[in-house]
Amino acid sequence: MSQDLHNNYINGEWVGSAQVIDNINPSDTSDIVGRYAKASNEDCLAAISAANAAFEGWSQSALEQRKTVLDFIGAELIARSGEIGEILAREEGKTRAEGVGEVYRSGQFFQYYGAEVLRLMGENTQSVRPGVDVEVHREALGVIAIVTPWNFPMAVAAWKVAPAIAYGNAVVLKPAELVPGSAWILADIISRSGLPAGVFNLLMGSGRDVGETLCTSADIQAVTFTGSVGVGRHIARNAIDNMARVQLEMGSKNALVVLDDADIDVAVQCAVVGGYFGTGQKCTASSRIIVQAGIHDEFVEKMTAAVGNLVVGHALAEGAQIGPVVDGRQLQQNLDYMQIAKDEGAELVLGGEALSMDTEGFYMSPALFINTTNQMRINREEVFGPIACVIKVGSYEEALEVSNDSDFGLTSGIITNSLANAGHFKRHSQSGCVMVNLPTAGTDYHVPFGGRKNSSYGPREQGQYAREFYTIIKTNYSKPY
Ligand code: NAP
Ligand code: MG
Repeated sequence: MSQDLHNNYINGEWVGSAQVIDNINPSDTSDIVGRYAKASNEDCLAAISAANAAFEGWSQSALEQRKTVLDFIGAELIARSGEIGEILAREEGKTRAEGVGEVYRSGQFFQYYGAEVLRLMGENTQSVRPGVDVEVHREALGVIAIVTPWNFPMAVAAWKVAPAIAYGNAVVLKPAELVPGSAWILADIISRSGLPAGVFNLLMGSGRDVGETLCTSADIQAVTFTGSVGVGRHIARNAIDNMARVQLEMGSKNALVVLDDADIDVAVQCAVVGGYFGTGQKCTASSRIIVQAGIHDEFVEKMTAAVGNLVVGHALAEGAQIGPVVDGRQLQQNLDYMQIAKDEGAELVLGGEALSMDTEGFYMSPALFINTTNQMRINREEVFGPIACVIKVGSYEEALEVSNDSDFGLTSGIITNSLANAGHFKRHSQSGCVMVNLPTAGTDYHVPFGGRKNSSYGPREQGQYAREFYTIIKTNYSKPY
């Protein structure tokens, strides 16, 4: 990517700024991925006003036009997933394969909603009064503020922007300041997609400035946010003040249960993938591994070997499985939690150290703790790093109880060959997505995604369920004769 300034996209124009964000590669801090314009307060107001001006026209646009736009964006993301995925890996630190996969998946979101555009059906019914017809249908909501986190810089934007414009809304997107590059590429593709000016706007900058101005505006109708619980709560309060609709996807402390009758290789594979891939920086990561006593020692032995074999390296290095942590602040937080866990009496089996590589970056070895309890802070608070903790339990019933004993409830998993226990867990696990013999991370794009408790607030994202948030219902009564 060139060192030219990457501008904000407002009302169909690229708008520069005196203030610049340097997008730093966490695998190699001497590599500046690009320079990005920081939106000013004026830019924020201009974007919100452009979106409002464009909304009416887009909300009434022909479905074929919307489908064409969404298909264009999806096709380009998929065709360029290799090249864009590499930039994503450079700015965020996940491996090249994960970066490419994320961009490809982002394209699939646009293609999926390109088809959903044609499936927005209403209902027709008779009135309780004679001669009166009733129609119930969905309309676009208005201007949607979209605020995204740094860990999936393309995919979260895609799964929010695609349904927003598919259902006829106008959008202002504010990506995380740490990773503006993927969102800028998405804006560039959108700028060539035929979408009318003002329907999509990009504002780069910090949450404190740009995010705050956007989400406290009385001229937006909804906010969809993915990020931390603290910021989510703050955004929700502001949204309620303006009677804006709000949807939050937040933190997690996902549990993977391993029962005595589990296939041990499946258990280890799921725990490693769920616990450490993406450097553990996934909202769906397994951070609590709840293991039944009979399989515990064998599991820990095989898990230790598997974690020890993971290759940490530059996100673009051949063979790297675990990239760096996203930045120095997050690395320090992970190291602080390592100390907190040790102080609480958790037993470190391996990992958890800052690593030096050929390039200066935020590297750390994946850490595994055993003999932890569910009351320890390391098992109650979101760490968001490559750290997993084993909790030993005696029975399935205890495993279920411990897995549900959390302020969070995004995903959960169970590894078992017992149909009865798998079925019971699916019914009684207090999470939004339950996985059986699969990692807690890894979801599809055509079905709903979201959690319970402090992990989510408001209607579900993704699949057809996204329309609950992005549309508003109208009930028409008519007496034609
Ligand atoms: P974060 O600090 O809450 O930030 C998320 C976004 O909100 C960023 O764009 C941030 O901007 C912005 N923001 C901050 N303060 C704001 C304010 N006052 N008003 C409006 N926007 C504001 O979260 P993060 O550290 O980027 O991401 C990690 C968190 O995301 C973790 O808790 C993780 O579990 C969660 N996550 C959840 C899901 C899910 O689906 N449940 C998926 C992915 C991630 P800046 O960062 O630019 O300042
Ligand atoms: Mg942040």
